[in-house]
Amino acid sequence: MRRISILGATGSIGQSTIDLIRRDRESYDVVALTGGRNIEQLARDAVELGAKLAVTCDPGLYASLKDRLAGTGIQAAAGDAAVVDAASRPADWIMSAIVGAAGLLPGIQAIRQGTTLALANKETLVAAGPLVMAAAKTQGARILPVDSEHSAVFQALVGEDIAAVERIIITASGGALRDWPIERLATATVAEASTHPNWAMGQRITIDSASMFNKALELIETREFFGVDPARIEVLIHPESLVHALVGFRDGALMAHVGPSDMRHAIGYALHWPERRDLPVERLDLARIGTLTFRAPDPMRYPALRLAQAVMQAGGKSGAAFNAAKEIALDAFIEGRIGFVGMAGLVEDVLDKMWSSDGLNRAPNNIEDILETDRLARRRASDFLAISA
Ligand code: NDP
Ligand code: MG
Repeated sequence: MRRISILGATGSIGQSTIDLIRRDRESYDVVALTGGRNIEQLARDAVELGAKLAVTCDPGLYASLKDRLAGTGIQAAAGDAAVVDAASRPADWIMSAIVGAAGLLPGIQAIRQGTTLALANKETLVAAGPLVMAAAKTQGARILPVDSEHSAVFQALVGEDIAAVERIIITASGGALRDWPIERLATATVAEASTHPNWAMGQRITIDSASMFNKALELIETREFFGVDPARIEVLIHPESLVHALVGFRDGALMAHVGPSDMRHAIGYALHWPERRDLPVERLDLARIGTLTFRAPDPMRYPALRLAQAVMQAGGKSGAAFNAAKEIALDAFIEGRIGFVGMAGLVEDVLDKMWSSDGLNRAPNNIEDILETDRLARRRASDFLAISA
């Protein structure tokens, strides 16, 4: 039996992971499930899967979680430290699917136990890529990408030498507003930005798809995971979302990964790696699909991509500040404090300030340095919002 834990079990990725586990329950010994506010789901899944431990990050929900688990023998815990503790419980495979920078410390804790970490939380590599990859190496932990584009690149690289890679192309649907006239973007509402043309995902990542901040994070994630020069990583708009990534080799070959828009493929690949097993995903009928289209992203429409390039060039702690400022910008958009195009303006302002006065391009010494940068970027972003209010 494989011992597994799921961090962020109640979310979109967490639930897709549970869907796969449920189909083959006898093969897994579920150690820990963690969630946030949705304790009803957390308790239900913990009972169904026979987890040893269920943790909510919210201490205010501890009593309620404990009540729901009364008499089941499942241990309940609450708080950020308890989530990190859950990640340190011995397991053979851990899914990192907490949303945002909150996933960083639990992910690192999982790496410290030298496990296999299925990494959906992209913020881990964006904020602390070099430290995380180095820690995985020292601890003998294996990181398997779960973000669909990175899983696609990973699969295209099986048996290949990374030195033969000329370029990596990750695709983007272009998001909910891709066909809007640029002048109209400023008026986009939260509801309009929250509907994804192809993927069913959490609200935050769906809005990040419309602004391409999601793709911006993924560019940085690609650089950190595969260690390629930023100039060799490209974004291509592909409205059908069926080709997830392409790897171009020095002999001119381009290997594309084609598959349905269903995260259970990438999750299942990471779950069964290095084997391939049956997965409950649609088999594509290319004759019926007929046409796949591609186009270059318009830099005026997607300033987030330009910012990601600047972040990769600057290096150091820039990724941590970029992600933190983006999270505040997204909160402010969802709360109606800034408009859709205001998100990129806020992030750029924070980065400019921190590059000029906070030594953002200096390498971090440790994770505490990254967390400090995260806090500072959030303060700078809040100051910006207070001034522009
Ligand atoms: P969701 O918002 O659907 O789920 C997030 C999970 O994290 C939930 O379990 C939530 O708990 C929990 N959570 C929220 N805040 C905290 C916190 N402060 N501390 C601990 N746990 C917390 O997100 P997704 O599943 O969509 O995404 C998860 C990660 O995977 C993100 O980094 C995203 O970018 C990445 N990803 C997602 C993809 C997708 O298709 N959804 C594709 C590729 C990458 P609760 O809901 O109970 O409050
Ligand atoms: Mg992705």
